[in-house]
Amino acid sequence: MDMQILSSAQALADCCRSWHKEGKTIALVPTMGYYHEGHMSLMDKARTLADKVVVSLFVNPTQFGPNEDYASYPRDMERDAAIAREHGADLLFTPTPDELYAPDAGTWVEVPEMGQLLCGISRPIHFRGVCTVCTKLFLLSQADYAVFGNKDWQQQAIIRRMVRDLFIPIAIVGVPIARAEDGLALSSRNVYLTEEERAQAPEIHKGLVYAKTMVEHGEIRANVLKEAVLRRWASTLPLGRLDYLQVIDSASLSQVEEITGPATMACAIKMGKARLIDNIQLN
Ligand code: AMP
Repeated sequence: MDMQILSSAQALADCCRSWHKEGKTIALVPTMGYYHEGHMSLMDKARTLADKVVVSLFVNPTQFGPNEDYASYPRDMERDAAIAREHGADLLFTPTPDELYAPDAGTWVEVPEMGQLLCGISRPIHFRGVCTVCTKLFLLSQADYAVFGNKDWQQQAIIRRMVRDLFIPIAIVGVPIARAEDGLALSSRNVYLTEEERAQAPEIHKGLVYAKTMVEHGEIRANVLKEAVLRRWASTLPLGRLDYLQVIDSASLSQVEEITGPATMACAIKMGKARLIDNIQLN
């Protein structure tokens, strides 16, 4: 059957309910569109998990701060629909903001401690918006699985915590970071980079790989790792402005001084009009 495109929340709920009645399982892929290979790998993963794949395409206004890029966020609905179809989506959900937020909507879902770390420092309302919209999508679709990219590590960790705390019956599945050949993590926001910035941007990932190599050679002190990466970036990434670079516990996101359990190095770098995030599993 061809992919359906629905923009009504009720229609999404009705469709998913009828699939469940037929005994079908559902995997959901929440996205903001402007698809690249990272999104495609999420859709491909979803295809292997469940009978039905729902992709949501919604640039969620509540996760953007007042001075962020909500209005200019890249959009290409026609191309995205073609890609979702090619990658096996059964349903593409494309609501308007009014469809998901009543004019007097005042209910928020928040994981305050984890949401205020890392990206939350410069984007204080971001994860509240993410958690709220994901909860709406989880409830409407009643999906059995939701697929998230490891690129947004903090987002995925927060969603896992939210689902655990609220007993939302959905399994969160993570997918490895899709990268350009030169190592830059793919992002819809990479279109904001100038040619010169794009040429330097792969150094972000190279810095993180450098830290991982140090860990493989026995270094466990977070400060030493961070200083080494910052020193490297000072020469290789002159166009980058550091937002943060942290070594964190992979699940709780809290900062670690020494790497003893699963640890992630995560960063956000501003380059021109873009703010790029990346991370690496250190062990
Ligand atoms: P976005 O449309 O940017 O909000 O992202 C939608 C989903 O795609 C999120 O789960 C992201 O983590 C995931 N994603 C974005 N970029 C990548 C990437 N380069 N590799 C893997 N997943 C990604």
